[in-house]
This record gives sequence, structure tokens and C-alpha cells, in this order.
Amino acid sequence: MKFEFDFRAGLLPFLKVVSHLPPSNFQFDAELISDDPFEDGEDVIGLDDLGEVDKTKGPLSIAGQMVVLYIKDHGSNALAVINGDVEAGRRVHLAYCSTLEKMERENKFDRYHLSRNPKRKYLISGSKYYWGDEIVEDEAELAICKNCLNFLDYDGYRQLNQRDRTSRTRDFDYDRFFSVYSSLFKKMPKKTEDDSAGYVEGWRQISLEKRFKANFTCQDCGFKAPPQDSAFIHVHHVNSDKTDNSDANLRVLCIDCHKLQPGHGHMWIEPKLLERFRKAKREAQGRLTREGSNTFCMDYIDPALRSPANRLFKLLRQTPEVAYEHEENGRIVFQADVAFVNLRIGICLELTDSEKRFAEKFRWTLLTHNEAMNFTASR
Ligand SMILES: [Zn+2]
Ligand SMILES: [Zn+2]
Ligand SMILES: [Zn+2]
Repeated sequence: MKFEFDFRAGLLPFLKVVSHLPPSNFQFDAELISDDPFEDGEDVIGLDDLGEVDKTKGPLSIAGQMVVLYIKDHGSNALAVINGDVEAGRRVHLAYCSTLEKMERENKFDRYHLSRNPKRKYLISGSKYYWGDEIVEDEAELAICKNCLNFLDYDGYRQLNQRDRTSRTRDFDYDRFFSVYSSLFKKMPKKTEDDSAGYVEGWRQISLEKRFKANFTCQDCGFKAPPQDSAFIHVHHVNSDKTDNSDANLRVLCIDCHKLQPGHGHMWIEPKLLERFRKAKREAQGRLTREGSNTFCMDYIDPALRSPANRLFKLLRQTPEVAYEHEENGRIVFQADVAFVNLRIGICLELTDSEKRFAEKFRWTLLTHNEAMNFTASR
């Protein structure tokens, strides 16, 4: 399920340098949000309209935390869906897709439900029989909305054939999804688990030795952390069993590559650490350019912006720079996480209207994730 990128092949010599293996573990910072609409211990809330939901940031969010949206009422299909007919069920939405837009416009549904900790099963309800008014309510498996995956182009969804698309909607790893987009959100909405939970005693030492042996180099993308920033590199448990510290089960991965692994609690990186990490990746990209390589590697870009970056890359036929800093008279005046420098177009994880207007003074167009996904080159 690796993100596919056309020009990756050009980087093979670089990737071969990689030795094996990864980390201090990511941090679950329990920075709770003051206007959190979820009550303590509650993972699902109902809403009558979508006014409070932030639809502009890629994944749907409320009060700075990512959520998924579903419709509880399944009408006369409820019983079939409860009995396992996933195709008869309503879809779970991840983003403000065309379906959701239409639903909102037509005000079709009584109540939306938001979940911040989704599992495969959702509580649904409806009438027991087509002709009756007896109500059923139970948990049922629901599939992910195709329009959402298509809008986000999650994991290269747009290039998949129909069969693969269908399996992506059924076989969906929520935690991985939240990890991929975590950089778009400044706060960790919920402490998923104690960050030391499940690790064996002495794990820190095991992790450090493993990373040391790997020369603090990511086994997937080949990024090497500078000595003072060993926290850029993690150690991942391949089979998700944190007590299995055998060589075969441990993989040394950088923050970006670790986010793309399936099967564990979702990962959120503290913004200051993330910023240093992005700069280090920028330097790695710069080194490659100085060595005369004109290739561009998706692995330098934050996973949250890979789909929009790839989209603009194909549209504009320009190689982007990562963590670009724009200087005027020797001073840095704005930054863009991904920048098509010759065309003066940038994509930012975080972007306010005033930053946008400011950049326009230098004839730069800065885009959010969603704007980049909708961008057309009619300039
Ligand atoms: Zn959708
Ligand atoms: Zn990596
Ligand atoms: Zn892991």
C-alpha cells in the first residue's frame, strides 16, 4: 500500500544506501481541547447540521480533532445491514465529498453522527420490515465512502481499478488514516493510550541500540537523522506485537514512513519536533540536488500533503521543493511546506487568509490541502 510515485525509480541509488531498521516512540501528547464537543469518555456525538464541522482541511474535523461522519438511520435497509450486507449500508465519510455536500444542501438527513475513535462497527437503526414501523438498532459494519477516498486521492485511490477501489472501502485502517493526516492538526485530540503501554521493560535501550546499528537511517526511504535528532527515527513493530523484539519484527523508520504503517494507534508528532524534522528532510533533498540529481522524491513530503503535491506535480510538470522558505532582502517572509518555486505556487499544512494575502504581495499563491486538490491551472 505504499504511495506510488512516478519518479521514485530515479532515486534507487539513494535508496540502496539504506541499512535496516527504527525509535523512540512517538508521543501521545494529551493536549486536550477546551471547546471539545465530546464529553468525557464519549467517542460519538450527534449533530443536526454540519455548521461546527471543519470541512476545509482534508479530513473532517471538529474543534481541531479528526472525525468520521456517518448516518445512523438506515431506514428499511437496517436489518440487512445489521445482518452483514455491507453494500446495503450507508457510507462512512472522511472528508467533505460530493455526497456529503449534496446531503447537506438537500438537508436530507435528520442527524449526522461524528466519531473520533471509529471502529469497523457503528450503531445503526431503522425499521425492522419494509412495510412496518417496528424499530431495530444494533451494531453493523459500514464501508468507507468512495467519493471521500477519491477526493483525498488517499493512497493513490484515483489510479485504482474498480475492484481495488471496492476493497479499499471495506478494508480500511482508520488509525493509519489518522496518522497520515495528523500534521494538518495542531493538537492531539485524544489520548489514545499511554505511550509506554505494551512495551517491555528496557524498550528504550533496545530501541536505541537498534537505531544505532541502523545508523539512524530509515529503512524505507533512506533518510538519515542528524546525530542530535535521533527522535526523527522510530523503531516499528512489524506484527504490532510490542513484546516481540526479535530482529525480524523490528524496523527502523523515519516519522513519515512510520505513519504509513498499518496496525497501531494513530500517531501524532509534536509540532516543534515535526518542524525540525521537515527542515532535516529539506536538507536531505537539497543534498541530493547539489549532487546533481534532478530527481524528486515523494518521501520528503509530509504524508498529509503527498496527494496534493503529486496532483500539482502532474499538472504543473515542475519539481517541488519541500519546506520552502521565501526570502526578501535576506529575511524569511513566509514558508510553504511544498513549493513549485518557478511558478510561485505553494501548499501549506497550516494557512490563514492573512498569510495568503501576504504571500500574494510577492506574487505567490499559497494553497491549503483542499485548495490544492481542487486547483486548476487556468492562470
Ligand atoms: Zn464521502
Ligand atoms: Zn522514511
Ligand atoms: Zn509502529
